[in-house]
Amino acid sequence: MAKSDDSITHGRRTFFKEAFAKLIEPVAEYLDEQISPYFPAEKVILRPPGALSEADFLNTCLHSGNCIDSCPAQAIHPLPNGTPHIDPDYQPCVVCESLACMQACPSGALQKLSVEEIQIGLAVVNYETCLRTEEIDCTYCVDNCPIGDTAIRLDSQERVEVIFAGCVGCGLCQYHCPTAPKSIVIQPLG
Ligand code: SF4
Ligand code: SF4
Repeated sequence: MAKSDDSITHGRRTFFKEAFAKLIEPVAEYLDEQISPYFPAEKVILRPPGALSEADFLNTCLHSGNCIDSCPAQAIHPLPNGTPHIDPDYQPCVVCESLACMQACPSGALQKLSVEEIQIGLAVVNYETCLRTEEIDCTYCVDNCPIGDTAIRLDSQERVEVIFAGCVGCGLCQYHCPTAPKSIVIQPLG
C-alpha cells in the first residue's frame, strides 16, 4: 500500500532530526570538554578572604563562627561541617573596608592580608554564553568590580578580560552577571 503524504513527511522529519542529532553530538561533547573544567556540575567551595590552603584551613579553623558574625555583607555562611564559605550567587564578598572577617578570626585560618593580597579565587569568563559575544553591550561584571580595571576590563576586542594579578575573587561580577547559568564564575585557586 502506498504511504500517505503525512507519513512520508513525518518519516523525513524523523530522519533529518536523527541525522542532525548525530551531526552535532561530537560538537556538543567537544564543547562540554572545553567548558566543564571551568563550570563543573558540582558547586565549588570558596573560603573567606585570607584563608589558608584548603588542607591547612580544615586543620586550623575552630568553627568559632566569628568571621560569619563579623561580615557586614552577611556573605559568609557555615557549611554542614561548620566551616565558613562564600557563595557569590547568593551574596558575594564586598571587600569591606576593615576586611572584618580576617580581623575576627581567632585561629589564623584566615590570615590578615591586604586587599591586594586577597585571592578568594579567580573570575573565569565563559565566552560561549557571555552576552557580549552576541554583541549585546553588557558590562555588569566590569561595572560592579570593587577593584576596577586592574582586575577586570574590556580588551581591545571589547571582550571581558580578567587580570589574574588584580582579581581578588570577591564574586561581585558573578553575582551581577544577568545570564543563567552565569557567564563569569569564581573558581578557587589551587
Ligand atoms: S572582607 Fe568583609 S565583606 Fe568580604 S567576606 Fe570578609 S567581612 Fe565579608
Ligand atoms: S556580566 Fe556576564 S554577560 Fe555581561 S559582560 Fe560580564 S560575563 Fe558577559
